[in-house]
Amino acid sequence: MAFEYRTWVEVSKRRIAENFRAIRDVLGPGVEIAGVVKADAYGHGAIEVSRILAAEGARWLAVSTVEEGVELRRAGIDTRLLVMADSLPSTRAALAEYDLTPVVHSFEDLRALDGFARSRGTRLRYHLKADTGMGRLGVAARAAGIASASGAASHLELEGLMSHLASAADYTTSQTECQIRTFADLCRDLSSVGIAPKLRHLASTHPIAYGRREAWFDMVRPGLGLYGYASPPAGPAPAKILHLQPALAWKAAVLATQEIPEGTPVGYGATFRARRPMRIAVVGAGYADGVLHQLSNRGHVVAAGTLVPIVGAVSMDLTTIDVTGCPSIQAGDAVTLLGSDGSASIDAAQIASLAGTIAYDVLCGIRSRVKRVYVP
Ligand SMILES: *Cc1c(COP(=O)(O)O)cnc(C)c1O
Repeated sequence: MAFEYRTWVEVSKRRIAENFRAIRDVLGPGVEIAGVVKADAYGHGAIEVSRILAAEGARWLAVSTVEEGVELRRAGIDTRLLVMADSLPSTRAALAEYDLTPVVHSFEDLRALDGFARSRGTRLRYHLKADTGMGRLGVAARAAGIASASGAASHLELEGLMSHLASAADYTTSQTECQIRTFADLCRDLSSVGIAPKLRHLASTHPIAYGRREAWFDMVRPGLGLYGYASPPAGPAPAKILHLQPALAWKAAVLATQEIPEGTPVGYGATFRARRPMRIAVVGAGYADGVLHQLSNRGHVVAAGTLVPIVGAVSMDLTTIDVTGCPSIQAGDAVTLLGSDGSASIDAAQIASLAGTIAYDVLCGIRSRVKRVYVP
C-alpha cells in the first residue's frame, strides 16, 4: 500500500462532533459551551475543528491569543471568540477589528483597554478573570475592587466573570471545592452591589466529565474533552458521566525493514542491542514530528494489529521498532503511533504515562510537519 505522506494524523470529524454533543447532553440546555480551540485545537487543526463545532451550533469558542482568534475570523468563523490569555497592548487593535472578546486579568489592563476603547470611540465587551486560588492570572476575588474598577471603565462592558481551577482532576485535595466556593461567593457579593455578569464560568473538561455541577455556572470551557480525553482522576472521584472518543489517530510509513543478527546495536548511542536475531522496521517519524524522545526503548506502536516496542533511541526523523513478531510488515506499510488498528490500540493518555507527561502535551506536541487529514 502506498501513502501520500511519511507521517500524518487522521482527525475524525464525526468524533469531534459527537464529543461536543456528549458534552452538551451532559450539561443540559441551561449551560453555554465555549469550545477551547487554542494551540491549533490541541493539534487537531483549529480552523477545521471550529468549523465542525460551528456546524454543531456552537455559539462560543475560546483561544489563547489574539493571533489565533484572527486566524479563525479570516477563515470565516463567526461565533463569539474569547481570547483567554493575551493582554499585550500591541494586539488591542486586532481585538477590536476582528470582534474578539478579551479576558482581562488585571485592573491595569482594564484601564488601558478602556482608554483604548474610548480613543476609538467604541464600546468593547470583556470577561474579567478572578484568581480564586490558582496563583496564576486574574484579579483578586474581591467584589469591592472589581465593582469600582469595572464601574470606572465607561467604554467597556463586563459580559463575563471567569476563573480557572488548578487541580480539577485531583480528588485528594479540597482546592477545587475552595475555588468553587470563592468564585460563588464573589458572584454573590458582586450581585449584591448590582453587578451581574451574564456569563460566569469556571469549569474546563474535568468538572464536566465527572459531574461536578456546582462548577458549571453559566458556561463551561472544555478543551481536552472535545478531542476525546479527560485526565485520569486522583483519589476518590465520582463516576465519570461523559462518554468521549479520541478523535485523532497518528500514522507513519515504514521506510525500511531489516533482519539483524544477535548483538547488533540499533540507533544513536547503541542504547539497544539485539539479544537474539530480530526484524527491525524503520518508521518515518521522529521527535521532530512529536514522537517523544522519552519513548526511546520504552514506547510502543501498533503494527499489523499488534502492539510492538520502540527499540533504540527515537531519532529526529525516524523511529525503530521491533517487528520480529509481525513478518507481514514491509516497507510502504503504515504503522499507528497513536490510535487503534485491529484489536490493538494506544492512546495519548497511555503514551503520556509512559513518557512521564500528560495527554495534552502528547497531542499539542504533534508538529506541523505531520500532515492533518480530515476523515468523515
Ligand atoms: C486550556 C484552558 C481550558 C481547557 O481546559 P481542558 O482541560 O483542556 O478542558 C479552559 N480554560 C482555560 C482558561 C484554559 O486555559
